[in-house]
Amino acid sequence: MLTSLCLLLVLQDPAPPAAPAPIAERIRTMLGRIQADELAGSVRALVDMGSRHVLAESRPGRPGKPGAVAYLEQRLRACGDGRLQVERQSFTVFSTRLGREVTVTNVVATLPGTQDPERIYVVGGHYDSICSDNRDSETPAPGANDDGSGTAVMLEACRVMARERFAATVVFVAYDGEEMGLLGSTAHAEALAKAGARVDGMITNDIVGNTLGMDGKKRDEYLRVFSYAPRGNDSPGRSLARAATHATRSHVPGFELRMVLRGDRYGRGGDHRPFHQQGFPAVRFTEAREDYARQHQTVREQDGKRYGDTPDFVDAAYLARVCAVNVATLAELAAAPPPPASVQASGSRTRYDTLLRWQAVPGAAGYELLARLTTSPDWEVARTVPAAEGQEARATLADVLLDDHVVGVRAIGADGARSRAAVPPEPDAVEQRPAGRRSGG
Ligand SMILES: [Zn+2]
Repeated sequence: MLTSLCLLLVLQDPAPPAAPAPIAERIRTMLGRIQADELAGSVRALVDMGSRHVLAESRPGRPGKPGAVAYLEQRLRACGDGRLQVERQSFTVFSTRLGREVTVTNVVATLPGTQDPERIYVVGGHYDSICSDNRDSETPAPGANDDGSGTAVMLEACRVMARERFAATVVFVAYDGEEMGLLGSTAHAEALAKAGARVDGMITNDIVGNTLGMDGKKRDEYLRVFSYAPRGNDSPGRSLARAATHATRSHVPGFELRMVLRGDRYGRGGDHRPFHQQGFPAVRFTEAREDYARQHQTVREQDGKRYGDTPDFVDAAYLARVCAVNVATLAELAAAPPPPASVQASGSRTRYDTLLRWQAVPGAAGYELLARLTTSPDWEVARTVPAAEGQEARATLADVLLDDHVVGVRAIGADGARSRAAVPPEPDAVEQRPAGRRSGG
């Protein structure tokens, strides 16, 4: 009786849920809220703290790091409508650069997902700053571009997204201690890994606001995205980079996100690294061309040249575009179903076709099959197929020779939002012995 009643209830399920608003429309609305003035105001407020060095104390007329933490917390709280959870996360860690233990405090705002809250997207910037001497916590260290700019982008992304609903969880973070060895982000990534968190993407915005190059040329038409790939040309991070280029092309007209197929700039590091090290997909956004006279430099004039990371070299209109890239990427991924699992590819033995198989994704309305030549940086072929019944999904990419291509699959939600692409394992993981041990000549 009970069983048949349940069955009846299932059969009499009321009218199907209303079709969700297309993701492109929702993203357009969010991007329309981004304001260059807000971004410039956040950068100025952070600069006004005096120094945001990990050890900078509060002094009369100079709020220091405690002032920055209070400001960030208050700004993030103002973004939400009751669902956004804002907290300070403090960790005591050893800094090899300072040779002592320090307390790092990340300011974290969590927007819980409505359907798949265990799946998490993190967006961050680091709020700490340094002057020329990285042990000096007294001298003003404005850190307008490094990384007031990235922190401002994170705050603005939160402001325009925090009242929206997404299937997955979005976490907005201002990191501490980046300049002292990625301390805040390392503690955060480790804590997430220890808790078994399912982080499907992490973006750090670091040095994203200067458009005037050292050569005097202005470059404001593109942003760079760095991603680690320990082997070959594919990795979870690179898949995230390609999701970001896709979101930029789809939703941010007139602006380009350029992939650099390298984890970071030469000899440099950023807050995406600890996430990559924990096995999470992670990328770094950085402006087109950096000006090294504006990074980690005590404000001064020397031989007629100005040094220092001051707000007059942060281009707020560019920051607004960088923020749009962040919001488009995060909103698309957080609205979409998760990426397909267990993707397998095989070549047809009679035709130059590729057969793809994967685990069906609950909630997916369809899938996008992707392909690119092994030498191509980004996806070149994209074909959509509707979702079908059954646990296993399969589809054929006609006229795609598997030997010469990398293939992948994205899940598509009912609103058109696309997941990060999942790719099958590469076939040629063959170990190579160190050259010195090779015998013969
Ligand atoms: Zn930085």
